[in-house]
Amino acid sequence: MPHVDEESKFAKVMVAFREWLPTVKPFLAERYAPVRETPGLVWRLPEFRYTALALGVLFAVSILRFAGGCLSFAPEGAVQRRATTGDFHVACTNEQCKKHFVINRKFKFDDFPVDCPTCKQETGQRALRCRSKTCRGQLVPTEIRGGDYVCRQCNKVIKRE
Ligand SMILES: [Zn+2]
Ligand SMILES: [Zn+2]
Repeated sequence: MPHVDEESKFAKVMVAFREWLPTVKPFLAERYAPVRETPGLVWRLPEFRYTALALGVLFAVSILRFAGGCLSFAPEGAVQRRATTGDFHVACTNEQCKKHFVINRKFKFDDFPVDCPTCKQETGQRALRCRSKTCRGQLVPTEIRGGDYVCRQCNKVIKRE
């Protein structure tokens, strides 16, 4: 019966182990006797240094894997959407409407004016914060002039952050 075979194999290993164990004890006692007297000496033993080094490496690797895991566990769709498109504030420049709305377009989208969903006119201009002395950080409708966004209230070029 294979079961019995395995049991006897295990018993043999146990016997061998029990025979081997007493021979190890004196060896260890001899090796670590100086350490018992001077605990600082433990660092002189290569096996301790290598164990400490291995533990340090394991620790660093697990930290890196944890950090990497945090990044990759973010929902992929959200990351991709954030990477390729953005929200753009739009101010309708139709005097009768002046609605403010937000559109989601590809990054660097600058095909303004866009259609206003309220008055259906093509009068939606990009709204940016103008930090001039007169506008003081207000969200203002802009206009593209010579590749720059210019505040329609004070005509200052708005630097985009
Ligand atoms: Zn409008
Ligand atoms: Zn302004």
